Amino acid sequence: MFTEVRHFHQYRDGLVGFDGVVLYKDSIIISPSLCEYALQLLYAAHQGVSQMCSRAESSVFWPGKTSAIINLRTRCSPCNRMAPSQPSAPPTPPIQPTYPSQCICADFFTYAGHNDL
Ligand SMILES: [Zn+2]
Repeated sequence: MFTEVRHFHQYRDGLVGFDGVVLYKDSIIISPSLCEYALQLLYAAHQGVSQMCSRAESSVFWPGKTSAIINLRTRCSPCNRMAPSQPSAPPTPPIQPTYPSQCICADFFTYAGHNDL
């Protein structure tokens, strides 16, 4: 019993009791026996680590939650199969002008009080 509570020592400043339920900040604390179930519910849509962490951050808490989420994503075969596999294109070198003002590039700029592109 005491060893289970020890994991919450570092979070003690954010722990509050409300109506018989222990919360960490605004999140419900999930007991160790239900962590895997909560993880499966969070991951039901296979949204990836960042979306899942965002959802978990606002709803549930247990020590080691983020690493459990990352581990689950790493082990998920459908996500690994569907994840983008093509690397981004290598950067292309800019065109080297041969005379002044041959190549001008601008995204957005303001000149004489007018915004233009
Ligand atoms: Zn998945």
